[in-house]
Amino acid sequence: MPSLAELVDQARADAQGVGGADRRVIPIHPVLPLTAAEGEVARILQICNACRYCEGFCAVFPAMTRRLEFGRADVHYMANLCHNCGACLHACQYAPPHEFGVNIPVAMAELRGQTYQDYAWPPVLGKLYRRNGLVVSLALALALTLFLLLAVALNGTLWGGPASGNFYALFPHNLLVSMFAPVFGFVVLALAMGVRRFWREVTPATSGAPVSAPAAAEAGAAVLQLKYLDGGHGAGCNNADDAFTLSRRRFHHLTFYGFALCFAATAAATIYHYVFGWQAPYELPSLPKVLGALGGASLAIGTAGLGWLNLQRHRLHLAQGQRPMDLGFIALLFLTATSGLALWLGRGTPAMAMLLCLHLGAVMALFATMPYGKFAHGVFRSAALLRHAVEKRRPNPVGLGAD
Ligand code: SF4
Ligand code: SF4
Repeated sequence: MPSLAELVDQARADAQGVGGADRRVIPIHPVLPLTAAEGEVARILQICNACRYCEGFCAVFPAMTRRLEFGRADVHYMANLCHNCGACLHACQYAPPHEFGVNIPVAMAELRGQTYQDYAWPPVLGKLYRRNGLVVSLALALALTLFLLLAVALNGTLWGGPASGNFYALFPHNLLVSMFAPVFGFVVLALAMGVRRFWREVTPATSGAPVSAPAAAEAGAAVLQLKYLDGGHGAGCNNADDAFTLSRRRFHHLTFYGFALCFAATAAATIYHYVFGWQAPYELPSLPKVLGALGGASLAIGTAGLGWLNLQRHRLHLAQGQRPMDLGFIALLFLTATSGLALWLGRGTPAMAMLLCLHLGAVMALFATMPYGKFAHGVFRSAALLRHAVEKRRPNPVGLGAD
């Protein structure tokens, strides 16, 4: 006699209209015991799947209607499709204090925290950061800054450094490369290992189909436009209350593109140095300086706005375990941007050495913690949106949903 799982597989294949020699049985994900966070998301999604009032809000609900049950891979995939906009909480007739206690933003945020930990590489760093994100971030930045200050002080250049503003006189170019290249390489490796594990786990649960060019283009546009931060109706998300606001989308955009511009400034400076042999410091209107100044200002405004919005958030949106990670990442980005701008304004002054140490300490701490917190959310979310763009192009396996 076939097992229940086999019958469900068969029903799914039938619903897809495939049969005979072409019949492709979609493997059901192995039933693993769910953690409390996974079980809570699965419980809530079962209620939502019967209700479906929030179908147009974001990518989570169309993905939900393609499922009758929610295994481990399903809930991690859907938690990373959610960006905690709060809209479904304010729309929900079953939200607390209703006995069903449907609170998707918090349940998803708690589970995303587990995603960062479960898929992190190496796992022990994921655990450490999850427990104390804000403290770890700031302590690391402080420790690295003090270390660099000590190194400069031993050379006697802590106050009143080179009047030319040439920071390579304090930290030679090759020394900076030897400090940052391994950290950058580690970040790329850790993020790649984490997202690879995530991808391998969610792919079978999201049709298993390969990525097509249209799916990649759609997911890329959703990431670059932060599409779902418009609330699904264009008026924005909720933040402090049930009013819609586009502030989060705008501050996210300033942060995202500010970071991208700063990265582009570093890449341009690298090309100047190695390809053209042009030595720093670069001044306006050079490309590294223009990109860096625009990126730094955008990043500082964006992170200040996101930090302020985070402190105003409605208490029912917030997963308390997640908040220190979010604030830690915002604080490090803000410190990196403002110390970079201060370094530019303070070049050639006696304070330059101290500003340089602060900026380098903040940048290094930011890079070292990137694979374990909010930045990882951007990577996992992009992967989830890509799987969503692939999955929605497949026939609905349960034949009940409305994409
Ligand atoms: S969040 Fe509430 S209103 Fe929205 S689909 Fe779920 S149960 Fe229905
Ligand atoms: S909180 Fe926002 S993004 Fe998350 S499931 Fe609800 S509507 Fe979608």
